[in-house]
Amino acid sequence: MSCLEDCHFGARQGSLQKVKISGGGRCNVTHACWEPAELVQYYPRGGKELLGPFHKFACGDTVAWFEDRGVPLKIEEDGRMFPESDDSGSIVNCLMKSCIKAGVKIQTSCKVVSVNIIDTGYELTTSKGNWKAARILMAAGSSNGMWKLLKELGYGIVPPVPSLFTFHIHDKALHELMGLSVSNAVVKYPELKIETSGPLLITHWGVSGPAVLKMSAIAARALHEKNYHFDIRITWAMGMTKSDIEGFRKSKGAATVGGQSPVNLPARLWKYLVSRADIAHDKRWADLDKEEMEKLFEVLTDDLRSIKRKEHV
Ligand SMILES: Cc1cc2nc3c(=O)[nH]c(=O)nc-3n(C[C@H](O)[C@H](O)[C@H](O)COP(=O)(O)OP(=O)(O)OC[C@H]3O[C@@H](n4cnc5c(N)ncnc54)[C@H](O)[C@@H]3O)c2cc1C
Repeated sequence: MSCLEDCHFGARQGSLQKVKISGGGRCNVTHACWEPAELVQYYPRGGKELLGPFHKFACGDTVAWFEDRGVPLKIEEDGRMFPESDDSGSIVNCLMKSCIKAGVKIQTSCKVVSVNIIDTGYELTTSKGNWKAARILMAAGSSNGMWKLLKELGYGIVPPVPSLFTFHIHDKALHELMGLSVSNAVVKYPELKIETSGPLLITHWGVSGPAVLKMSAIAARALHEKNYHFDIRITWAMGMTKSDIEGFRKSKGAATVGGQSPVNLPARLWKYLVSRADIAHDKRWADLDKEEMEKLFEVLTDDLRSIKRKEHV
């Protein structure tokens, strides 16, 4: 918490300890996304409100800010940006040096106990005395105590709900495929008409990976209200059409369904999906009837799964 350009308070000993451990000790500083209009799309809530601030300071400004202070950043394949040093210490040092240069006084192990509005701004009561400030900036993370203080000052607090979790599917056969992944799957939450896509990973409790994590973030509030009992639909084979399956049946008629797949999926996952469509693995493609073809297509492109709870990664 800071009285702007004057004093910074921290409840714990030491400064920027969280930055030090962030990004696995490398600190994922920002993302290579340069257009505010594109950047806000990655915020499931509050994107509209962030558009203005991002026009004033966004990822490109962050890169320039650190580079101007001798900390060049690099872009990884997935767009994440880290210091070239691959060491969060460079970021911590840079921020500390900038604070010192700007004359910021840092008070660690100094708990803010109360905040009162006075004629000239604010008065803070802390474990190390009282301060007055014209303006204050509160950045106290998920501190319940601080949220309570904010409420007392008349600010509305939106109750937080979990985000970035994975989905538990009660299905032993699926769990046995743990570690297998699909490079581009689609996850749909039909009730809210939400759809996410990306890599999907099978785990020993259900499904994870970017497609699932994105859904957990976008639908966080709705899923919380459902107590994490909800249905999703998974597209395992993106772009697959009924005529692709029909064409495969015609050309590979003598092959077994379990043995030959028309899609680029791990062989064990393909066999699992064939079983889900109630088709025997040793059945020949040529012997599939219309109903079985329909069921196979549905499982591959619109597989209905019941989620029973969330799991944290
Ligand atoms: C393991 C891990 C890795 C992460 N990696 C990254 C990453 O690579 N890139 C990234 O962008 N984000 C990362 N994050 C997320 C990032 O750390 C948080 O989003 C960010 O720290 C939130 O900042 P904040 O200021 O809101 O809260 P915090 O960083 O939690 O800081 C809150 C501060 O307020 C102090 N405080 C609380 N109550 C009081 C009080 N009453 N009086 C005085 N002080 C008080 C606390 O002691 C604390 O110092 C990571 C998080 C974790 C846990």
